[in-house]
Amino acid sequence: MPELPEVETVRRSLAPVLAGARIEDVAVRGRHVTDEPPEVFRARLRGRRIEGLGRRGKFLVFRLDGRLRLALHLRMTGRLVYEPPEGERLPPPVGGATPGALSAGEGRLAVGWRPEAPFDLRPEHTHLEFRLAGGGRLLFHDMRKFGRAWTWVAGRTRPPYAGLGPEPLGRAFTADRLGRSLAGRRAPVKAVLLDQRTVAGVGNIYADEALWLAGIHPSRPAGSLGPDEVRRLRRAIRLVLRRAVRGRGTTFRDYRDGLGEPGGFAAHLRVYGRAGSPCPRCGTPIAKTKVAQRGTHLCPRCQR
Ligand SMILES: [Zn+2]
Repeated sequence: MPELPEVETVRRSLAPVLAGARIEDVAVRGRHVTDEPPEVFRARLRGRRIEGLGRRGKFLVFRLDGRLRLALHLRMTGRLVYEPPEGERLPPPVGGATPGALSAGEGRLAVGWRPEAPFDLRPEHTHLEFRLAGGGRLLFHDMRKFGRAWTWVAGRTRPPYAGLGPEPLGRAFTADRLGRSLAGRRAPVKAVLLDQRTVAGVGNIYADEALWLAGIHPSRPAGSLGPDEVRRLRRAIRLVLRRAVRGRGTTFRDYRDGLGEPGGFAAHLRVYGRAGSPCPRCGTPIAKTKVAQRGTHLCPRCQR
């Protein structure tokens, strides 16, 4: 599932091509995608100008004229894909997709990988199609049908992400705040991190990576962490997410940015998806177990 780094990469890849674009029409296929009836959704969006593209947690947020907002959540397999007008080429990849984008010692990204056909966009899995003035199209494609779209008016109705915890890379995500979210909780610390009310945008991959970096066992009761551990965990979450954003997210199978580019961060994962491989810190084989019903990767020796 796309997490903060992947959604942020989609945002960065699409923002330059969508800013200022006008939505001529929207085709809604399937009633499951939109929060409101498809005809209402379509009527609200037709003719709107896209003023900007933001993100809150794992939600992509379009700022449209008239204070209208559109949020998309990719959930498991959702993709948002821009198709340029016929005869025009895609702009070059955006963001850190250049050698040296990661700091020294973090290795190099596989760059320039641009498949002939980005991926199979089957029409039956394209649930939303935004037709833009000038001929470009924005497609919301989702094999598993969990992705959702919402519209609302800023300042008038509640956004779908009301109640989310702080942005992990923002200033509100302090050690104090994280400490208060963990205090007194008997649930495993990983489960509390996956709860989007604790911190927005962390999912299974980056929870495992952050807990490894902090040296904290994922099944520790959240309330058992001392102040030093809470500080270490907060720093680890921020570090892991910042690196992953720079690496343009993690692609195992489905995830691509808005221009069809895969992420480059999979090669930099330390524990996630590496069961049986040596821990980069102590050499002990990485274990895979279940915590909070989720496949969980950890070093049994250096995470306590
Ligand atoms: Zn280890």
